[in-house]
Amino acid sequence: MPTAGEPPATPVPTGARGPLPRAAVRSVVVVGAGLAGAQAVTALRAEGFDGRITLLGAEGVEPYDRPPLSKELLTRPAPAWLRDELGLDLGAADDVRLGTAATGLRLDGARITVMTSEGPVEADAAVLATGAHAARPRDWPGVLTLHTAADAADLRARLTPGSRLVVVGAGWIGAEVAGVAAAAGVDVTVVEAAAAPLLAALGPVVGALTAPWYADAGVRLITGTAVAGIEPGAVHLADGRALGADHVLAAVGARPATAWLAGALTLEADGSVPVDAGFRVDGPARVVAVGDLARRRSPRHGWVPGGHWDGALRGPAIAVRSLLAEVWPDGGMAGLGDPAGPVDPAGAVAPVATQPGDDPAPYVFSTQLGHELGLYGLPGARDDVVLRGDPTGPVTALYLERGTDRLTAVLAIDRPRDIAAARRLFAAAELPHVDRAVAADADRPLRDAVR
Ligand SMILES: Cc1cc2nc3c(=O)[nH]c(=O)nc-3n(C[C@H](O)[C@H](O)[C@H](O)COP(=O)(O)OP(=O)(O)OC[C@H]3O[C@@H](n4cnc5c(N)ncnc54)[C@H](O)[C@@H]3O)c2cc1C
Repeated sequence: MPTAGEPPATPVPTGARGPLPRAAVRSVVVVGAGLAGAQAVTALRAEGFDGRITLLGAEGVEPYDRPPLSKELLTRPAPAWLRDELGLDLGAADDVRLGTAATGLRLDGARITVMTSEGPVEADAAVLATGAHAARPRDWPGVLTLHTAADAADLRARLTPGSRLVVVGAGWIGAEVAGVAAAAGVDVTVVEAAAAPLLAALGPVVGALTAPWYADAGVRLITGTAVAGIEPGAVHLADGRALGADHVLAAVGARPATAWLAGALTLEADGSVPVDAGFRVDGPARVVAVGDLARRRSPRHGWVPGGHWDGALRGPAIAVRSLLAEVWPDGGMAGLGDPAGPVDPAGAVAPVATQPGDDPAPYVFSTQLGHELGLYGLPGARDDVVLRGDPTGPVTALYLERGTDRLTAVLAIDRPRDIAAARRLFAAAELPHVDRAVAADADRPLRDAVR
C-alpha cells in the first residue's frame, strides 16, 4: 500500500467500470467505521484509488451489522462482523483508527482537516459516514436504547423471562424487539403516541394493518397515548395510566451523528447532511456524505433520508465515484434549490458516470412479530394507498401520488414475489406508472400493472 506523499503507481487509476479521468486526489479520510464507512474503503480500492486512506471510528470495534441487533437480540450474542458477513477488509485502508472519534471538521477552500482527540488528519477528500445515534429524551432517566452492539449486550442481559419491558415507540425497531422479547417469555407492552404503529413511515392505512400482530405475538399495544414521564419502575402515560416496568426501551427514532460537523457544514433541521444525487456535499472541498447521516436529493424520489441499511450498502460506490471524478461541480451540489421544496429532477446534479442503479430506490426490510416486510421507494404523506391481497394476511400496499397512476413506493408484507417485482419496477430511470385495478388484483403479477 502506498504511503502519504508517494506519487501514484499508475498515472490514471482504472476502476471496475473502466478508465475514468481522475482528480489529483492522493489521500482520503473516511470518518465513521460502520457499514457505509467500510463500504467506502472497499469502493475506493475497487475504483482503482491507490492513494492513502485513513479510517476513523468511534466505537473501538470493527464494523458490524446493526439489523441483527434487534432481530436476533436474544439469539446472537456476538456482533455480526461485516468482515464475515460481507467480506469487508479494513486492510484496504492504510491507517485504521477504530477508537478515534472525529471532533470537528475544518474546510478552508478545498483543504480538508478532520480534528480528532489525537490531533488533526489532513486529506484531499473526505467521506463522512458517522451514521446516527438513537434518540433519547433527556428527561427519561434510566431508559435504554438500542443502536450499538454494547446496547444489545446490555438489553440482552436484562431481558429474563417474566421481566416487564415497556417499549416506547411502535416503529421498526420497537416492533422487532417487542416480538423477540415476547417470544422469549418477557412481559412486553408497547406504547405508541400515534394512532397506529409505523404511522410516520407507512401512513395510517398500512400502519393499522400491523396493529393486530402485537396481540397475536403476545404483546400489549397501547396507541394514541404519549408517555408523560418515566421514573424507576414505572412509565406514566398522558391519559393517567401507570405501567409497571423493570426495563424501559426508548425506540423513538434515530438522529444523524453530526454534532461534530456543526459550524463546518450547513445541516438540515434534523441534523442530516444534505447531498446531491452523487452524495456530494455543497462547497468547493471534495466531501461526500453517505449512509444514515446523509439526506440525498434523488432525481426520482426527492429528498431521501438515511436510516436504511441498503442505502449504506450501495451508496458508497456512487459517492466514491463522485469523490474521485475529475470534475467537482462548482459549489459541490449547486443548483438543487430549496431543500424543503418540491423536486425538480433536472435540478438534481447527476451522479458521476451515471449507470443503471446510480439512483438507488430506498429499500427497507424488517422482520417483526412474525412477519416479513419489504419497502421499496418512498411513500408520500399524501399518497393514495391501493392494497393487493388480504389486508389480514399476506398483502402488498402500493403508494401512488394522490389522484395519479405514479407509483412512489411498494410495501410487501409476507409477499416476497412483490418485493422482487418492486425491485425491478424501481430500477427504471423514472417512477413507474401503473393501472390501479390491475395492481390491486393479487392473482396477477405486479408487472402486468405497469403502463
Ligand atoms: C437495531 C437496528 C436494527 C436495524 N434494522 C434495520 C433493518 O432491518 N433494515 C434496514 O434497512 N435498516 C436497519 N437498521 C438501520 C441500518 O442498520 C443503518 O441504516 C446502517 O447501519 C447505517 O450505516 P451507517 O454506516 O451509515 O451508520 P452506522 O451503522 O451508525 O455507523 C456509523 C459509525 O460511525 C461511528 N461514528 C459516529 N460518530 C463518529 C465520530 N465523530 N468519529 C468517528 N466515528 C464516528 C459510529 O460509532 C458508527 O460505528 C437498523 C438499525 C439498528 C440500530
